[in-house]
Amino acid sequence: MSFIAVDPENDFPIENLPYGVFSTPQNNRHRIGVAIGDQILDLSVVKHLFDGPILKNSQHVFEEPTLNSFMELGRPAWKEARGTLQRILSAEEPILKDNADLRAKAFVLQSKAEMHLPARIGDYTDFYSSKNHAYNVGCMFRGPENALMPNWTHLPVGYHGRASSVVISGTPIRRPNGQTRPDETQPPNFGPCRLMDMELEMAFFVGGPSNMLGTNIPIQESEDHIFGMVLMNDWSARDIQKWEYVPLGPFLAKNMGTSISPWIVTMDALKPFITENMKQEPTPLSYLQHSDNYNFDINLNVFLKVPEITDPVLVSKSNFKYMYWTMKQQLAHHTITGCNVNSGDLMGSGTISGTTPDSFGSMLELCWKGTKPVELGNGVTRKFLQDGDEVIMKGHCQGNGYRVGFGTCTGKVLPANKL
Ligand code: MN
Repeated sequence: MSFIAVDPENDFPIENLPYGVFSTPQNNRHRIGVAIGDQILDLSVVKHLFDGPILKNSQHVFEEPTLNSFMELGRPAWKEARGTLQRILSAEEPILKDNADLRAKAFVLQSKAEMHLPARIGDYTDFYSSKNHAYNVGCMFRGPENALMPNWTHLPVGYHGRASSVVISGTPIRRPNGQTRPDETQPPNFGPCRLMDMELEMAFFVGGPSNMLGTNIPIQESEDHIFGMVLMNDWSARDIQKWEYVPLGPFLAKNMGTSISPWIVTMDALKPFITENMKQEPTPLSYLQHSDNYNFDINLNVFLKVPEITDPVLVSKSNFKYMYWTMKQQLAHHTITGCNVNSGDLMGSGTISGTTPDSFGSMLELCWKGTKPVELGNGVTRKFLQDGDEVIMKGHCQGNGYRVGFGTCTGKVLPANKL
């Protein structure tokens, strides 16, 4: 129990303790904080309390404007920090609870803070690891017989994305202009994207010391390089994607923005919610094999807030556990060539769709390529996103009397620039 009161429905009890970067109107410096209930504990103010064997000599990491240096310290340091945080926030420990001066300086209301990107994201990769999603999209474009490409069950398919356009939740996303070819008998057009979509994803941040270029991260060591997870919306321009993607994959259809939630939930906080890996058939090659479970039961909800309706409407209920490839497999695969990854790199899961139509993670699937408009109530429907529509993603693990949550990942679609 913490001395900070936390409602059982709140995403941020003492069992969670996610890390983020924030500023306030009184102090615009970017600082590292930990969410607890409706508050933020400012780690730059309490860094001297991290007096364990590893962190007592590395307290400066909590004064930096991003989490990269803390992430780079590695798993023993992350565990020590979590232990210290749980102790200083507990109802039995007076060091913070009974020091009114320190408390006044160290806590900020989340409602008074502005959140920022938690890390300097050097590189961003997006995978395609939900079998249901890959199957659905494959069905629409190639038919059920060829839905999954032959490589899909042998390796976690992915592409190198664009780190510069990863933005924090709440940042509006401008509808892109681009080249499309709606009629295959006609030459391509230029103009605003007409099939603007979202993708319900989660992503993990890489941590630990970088592997050197030319060396790989073996799957047995991959856990030491997975710092924590966020919600992610991989905004997608389907019409641009359809025309551009052959043969090198996504490019401009994906770089108008990728939104992430501000609080990084650590793998230690997620450990109680580990669930069985999906059965993999055929058995992956040995460099992709691990025997322990590393799948997670995380409830995911997508809401659409449209101008015509006051309240957000739930359009999808999915779960991270529908992932076929694990994060360990993704990281081992990513580095098997000797590709170096660095702390702060972001690895997207791919759109996470469940098995039923109410659990699909993109408008493309929810409206089945435009053939089944999604009913939002009051006669309002959507196929793809319109200007002014806001996509709100939420995620949480349900514990016994508490939840470990991710907060929200939101973004509103702005009209395209007139060119
Ligand atoms: Mn994606």
